[in-house]
Amino acid sequence: MTPGALFARGMANPLRASVMYPPDRSLFAPFRAAATPGSVAASLAAARSPIGLYVHVPFCETRCTYCDYATVPLAGHDAAARDAYVEGVVAELASVAEALPPGTRVAGLDVGGGTPGVLSARQLERILGAVASRFSLAEGFEVSTETTPTQAAADPAKWREVARVGVTRVSMGLQTAEPGLLRRVGRAPHGGDRPARGMEALRGAGFSLVNVDLMFALPGLTLPAWEATLEAAVALAPDVVTAYDTVYKNRRIAEEASRGAGAPSPEDFGAQYDRAFGLLTGAGFASRYGSVNFSRAPGRLGTSRYLEGRLRDGLDYVGVGLYASSLVGTSWRFGLARIDAWLAAARSGRLAAEDLYRLPPRHVEAKFLLLALTYGVLDAARFRARFGRTLEEALGERLLFLLEGGFLRPAPDGFELVPGRFRDLPGIRAALFPDDATPLLDLPVVSPLRAVALGA
Ligand code: SF4
Repeated sequence: MTPGALFARGMANPLRASVMYPPDRSLFAPFRAAATPGSVAASLAAARSPIGLYVHVPFCETRCTYCDYATVPLAGHDAAARDAYVEGVVAELASVAEALPPGTRVAGLDVGGGTPGVLSARQLERILGAVASRFSLAEGFEVSTETTPTQAAADPAKWREVARVGVTRVSMGLQTAEPGLLRRVGRAPHGGDRPARGMEALRGAGFSLVNVDLMFALPGLTLPAWEATLEAAVALAPDVVTAYDTVYKNRRIAEEASRGAGAPSPEDFGAQYDRAFGLLTGAGFASRYGSVNFSRAPGRLGTSRYLEGRLRDGLDYVGVGLYASSLVGTSWRFGLARIDAWLAAARSGRLAAEDLYRLPPRHVEAKFLLLALTYGVLDAARFRARFGRTLEEALGERLLFLLEGGFLRPAPDGFELVPGRFRDLPGIRAALFPDDATPLLDLPVVSPLRAVALGA
């Protein structure tokens, strides 16, 4: 299929050509490997230093309609259950550290979720202490975590303690300031004055970087409502705003959009991104066209060290906790998905996995390329360092098509998205798909082939 035909297919089914690769997990079925303690240990033993480290905290107050993460209801897990979970994390960290090559350094730690903001400062300190004692920390190592406005606002004193135990960056999920939409996506408890009170608590705690997350192209989101959300975010005066484009594939939100408010078109995605770019850069946040990150922090793009290492440099990353994902070399792995089974394995020191895939390099490259574009650029040196070949060698006529079509243009560091082309990203992404992924571009966005309920 020609790159032009691929582009057209991506534009015809834009929600399938999202930033998340693969377009459906069924693509990787032929690459499944037996997930045994030996195969998991072997995958970790191949890690290249430095790595990114991720700890998943699955507890959530409500389930958002767009969520595709492993979560469990907070209501069913009291402080003792959360303590047990943290001890499971500490045990799994020890097993992982043992399996990694000696001297492996950690570039950054993200404690994510779920809602890691439900952990106490003491529980976070326990995790951070385990990381510091078990791993070598790279220069510039940073700990980042995230929270809902509800958890941020609930206990300002706790957040001062969280800063004291070593967390330096916190991200608060505002997502939308439109009350009706907040309710429809299942986040009604996080509205009202909670974002402002939450920000006050985080600022008062003294974190060096405070981020506000927003989502655009939610079902039924209008341009004026999006502008109001952007203005609400600016009024909170964060260091960084991250404006994510909503991912629909296989999620509850896709079914709801197909029934109700309607799924956004590529033009909606483009117009809302372009508005965010204009408004946020006008308010003093630095960004590059196409990047979803807008930063006022000098010298920082705004994302965490973990995420920047993973997305821009293609560092190997290791996830710890319930159904946490890891990508080491070409081994893509997910931890156990049931909390009791995960806890039993972690306590016993047994390395376990729900899913393990040995991916052909072309699919690892595709994952990297699509995520790299969330920074607005395909970075030539980083790609070569990660994959041992040039972008031209990897993409050939596909790259030529994107350049000649005016979608990408040469830049000092590689090839960047041309201003105004955000709306063409579904086609651009599709043109970057390996051949065997292209049939999935024709799948409906709510797919009957969905075999695994979480992740990707
Ligand atoms: S989107 Fe975040 S807060 Fe919402 S249910 Fe998923 S993990 Fe929890």
